[in-house]
Amino acid sequence: MPNAPSQIADNVAAVRARIDEAAARSGRSADRVTLVCVTKYAGVEAAQALVEAGCLDLGESRPQELWHKHDVLANSAIRWHLIGHLQRNKVARTLACTHLIHSVDSLRLARSIDENARNQGPPARVLLEVNISGESAKHGFSPDEIEQALVELANLPHLRVLGLMGMASGDGDLTTARREFASLRMLREQLVGRCPPGVLLDELSTGMSLDFGVAIEEGATLVRVGSALFEGLEG
Ligand SMILES: *Cc1c(COP(=O)(O)O)cnc(C)c1O
Repeated sequence: MPNAPSQIADNVAAVRARIDEAAARSGRSADRVTLVCVTKYAGVEAAQALVEAGCLDLGESRPQELWHKHDVLANSAIRWHLIGHLQRNKVARTLACTHLIHSVDSLRLARSIDENARNQGPPARVLLEVNISGESAKHGFSPDEIEQALVELANLPHLRVLGLMGMASGDGDLTTARREFASLRMLREQLVGRCPPGVLLDELSTGMSLDFGVAIEEGATLVRVGSALFEGLEG
């Protein structure tokens, strides 16, 4: 079995090379694409190996697992990203350790984040999750709700909307993924000129291991990559 830290470092280098290629193909700067390394399949040691390989943006889909790795790694240079569904009773603890919440999927959750952030210092940094595949099992605002939601969100002083997040349909088909990512890019372009003051839509979080190249070609500024970082490892 390959030594885990060196295998992980090799995988990180391979993913970064593919990010550079995708950016070059679409005439974008790879500097505008942040690799969020998703550690949900990995233990604390593998997460530590990612940090040693230079990855300081780490993502978890479950709040409790994020809290756990945050506390055990205890490294203030790490920027934690929550990428999965957040229940309102977990907001306070999550805000205390999270750099960016990608998965704000309702106004109720946004209001709860705003209330909690009031007591915790800096405004909460969030993305709005948009259901771009139209699958009913997926969380998120529907694309035609977003403009109205932004008006309400602009009135929440302790919440900073920084962009949009979307997930392609689960079948791994790149043509479908491209179409869905392009629809989010165009939604962002439509909304950006009409955003209420205080709302920014600079960030687009799209793309996972199977489709991050396509996501970057369609404007992703954050890609959330998990399994590709752990290839070739046992377990
Ligand atoms: C698990 C997960 C990812 C990473 O998935 P991989 O296919 O392993 O890269 C990205 N985004 C979300 C929301 C996830 O839950």
